[in-house]
Amino acid sequence: MADQQKDLYDILEVSRTATQEEIKKSYKRLAKKYHPDIYKGDDAEDRFKEINAAYEVLSDEQKRAAYDRYGTTDPNFGSFDGGFGGFGGFGGSGMDPFEDILRSMFGGATSGFGGSGYSSRANTSPIKGENVVRNWDISFMDAIHGATIKVPVDYEEPCEHCHRTGAKDGKMKTCPHCNGRGRIVETVSTFLGAMRQESVCPDCGGSGQVPEEACDACHGEGYEYRHTELNVKIPQGIKTGTQVRIPGKGGRGYNGGPNGDLYLNINVLSDPTFKRRGDDIAIETTISALDAILGATIKVPTVFGEDNLEIKAGTQPGQRYRMKGKGVVTSRHTGDQFVTVNVEIPTKLSERERDLYTEIRDHVAAQPEKPFEKIKDFFTGRKQD
Ligand SMILES: [Zn+2]
Ligand SMILES: [Zn+2]
Repeated sequence: MADQQKDLYDILEVSRTATQEEIKKSYKRLAKKYHPDIYKGDDAEDRFKEINAAYEVLSDEQKRAAYDRYGTTDPNFGSFDGGFGGFGGFGGSGMDPFEDILRSMFGGATSGFGGSGYSSRANTSPIKGENVVRNWDISFMDAIHGATIKVPVDYEEPCEHCHRTGAKDGKMKTCPHCNGRGRIVETVSTFLGAMRQESVCPDCGGSGQVPEEACDACHGEGYEYRHTELNVKIPQGIKTGTQVRIPGKGGRGYNGGPNGDLYLNINVLSDPTFKRRGDDIAIETTISALDAILGATIKVPTVFGEDNLEIKAGTQPGQRYRMKGKGVVTSRHTGDQFVTVNVEIPTKLSERERDLYTEIRDHVAAQPEKPFEKIKDFFTGRKQD
């Protein structure tokens, strides 16, 4: 097996990043050099076999990948019934591929081999709980002005009675499952043969101690369920997609670590009147044809309440007015409100109205050069020239 140890790349005298072309070239050169008919050393046959074996693996991308990962392509390689002791024979640089194998097979839970123990401690150190994200709808106006909203939350907290131990009166005993080691060793069969797998004891969570008697308050859980309603401040001008963080109200921490956080993923509900465009607000309003012609002061809604808007004489349908500072106020910027004006044409006229409109039309027809001014003068009763 010592031969297996020899690096295939070294045998073929190529780098680990060599291309297939380079591998092929080097193989041809070496095969020629060490061909038993040419090379007259005592190890001629062995060298030649070695080169061919190396080429067989490295010229096949799949085998090469397996070799890169596991350091071997032989499925029977090392039937280590003797557990980790069997690895001893490889010593030295032979360790690395096995670390890789074990890491890929068992993840962080593996340890117990020759002090390399890359992860055994991580399992018992405090870890913050998971963050929890919840979707949360808020009204359009709450988003504009900011608000304090009530959010019911469910979470777990270390039990006050037993200080997370889960033990009645804090009395603990040695974990019978792992005999206080905090870790358990199981023999698992793998394609490398039977192996010892070490993992955190599920009963004591790695502490090696379990409650003598379960705490009454938390039934030995060490954590208590809480349900409460929190007042959560929503900043003014908040947009859909913004996340509001509520610290410590997420998933339970591990090994005494703090809880994760709760995030509210804000969705701002739409409003029938106001549309938001960034920090600006858009609304539509409808005025009469006469107000459009003559101008007027009208009332329009804003997010701050009703406000006056000056409609200029001669306003066209679809014309847009800007109301400065009447948009969304954020910490950085204040938006404006844009008002799109619809002009309503009357559909029914009284007899008197019909007469007046007809009179205007006749009047305009007689003086076509400045029709708009004429209409306006007509309505405002200004003297004609
Ligand atoms: Zn245990
Ligand atoms: Zn308790």
